[in-house]
Amino acid sequence: MNDTTQATTQPMVRLEKINKYFGKLHVMQDIDLEVAPGEVVVIVGASGSGKSTLIRCVNGLEEFQSGRIEVDGNELLPDGKSGKSLQAVRTEVGMVFQQFNLFPHLSVLDNVTLAPRKVRGWSRDKALETAHRLLERVGIEDQADKYPSQLSGGQQQRVALARALAMEPRLMLFDEPTSALDPEMIGEVLDAMRELAKDGMTMMIVTHEMGFAREVADRVIFVHDGQIVEEGPPQEVLDNPRQERTQAFLSRVL
Ligand code: ADP
Ligand code: MG
Repeated sequence: MNDTTQATTQPMVRLEKINKYFGKLHVMQDIDLEVAPGEVVVIVGASGSGKSTLIRCVNGLEEFQSGRIEVDGNELLPDGKSGKSLQAVRTEVGMVFQQFNLFPHLSVLDNVTLAPRKVRGWSRDKALETAHRLLERVGIEDQADKYPSQLSGGQQQRVALARALAMEPRLMLFDEPTSALDPEMIGEVLDAMRELAKDGMTMMIVTHEMGFAREVADRVIFVHDGQIVEEGPPQEVLDNPRQERTQAFLSRVL
């Protein structure tokens, strides 16, 4: 990309001076952030620093009190006054949580086909074809007829990923997707995410997996007490942090 195209490319995500409170707690303080199409941004920071709140704001799961958020040209406004664009954002943004949140009473296949059929209005055949392709892509097509309780945590999280991808999202959000997994299953989920990044998906990922961040992130953002304290390429932020608070955090997790 030359400078001219870069300057005219609309960001996939733009946060402008976002402030959010939980009662008296100022959980997002003047947050400015842009994410370019195809960019992989990893968000790190201590527990309680506001990472989940930040990414939940991006798909309208949390309201905020001032500022504006734009996701692929759809504008989210403060105090829940977003109107129709909220629905557009929810449809265009996929999210994978720490807890897999699969529908327990539905098979893997039904978990993956439900939203495309209900929200996108796809035919059964189209939804099934897409689901099989995505389950294959995350390496669990042989589990299609099972129920979530019959799967390992790593398999369930890959179903959750396939389910999110079935909606053909323009942006994927991940909130500690491997934190609830047994260590031996972390790799298979990170592998699927790595593939997705390679395919050019725009991703915002909260994770404590620093090896993954180093390898996959285009940019690492360090959040502390509701503020972005430091950001840059992983080699800078993780290996050569300028801020004392970043150094202190990294010395605890690395
Ligand atoms: P992180 O994901 O970095 O651990 P969170 O975004 O979950 O942090 O939380 C940031 C702060 O906001 C914490 O102090 C947390 O206790 C508080 N918080 C989060 N959600 C709520 C809520 N729904 N109501 C009140 N306080 C909340
Ligand atoms: Mg969190």
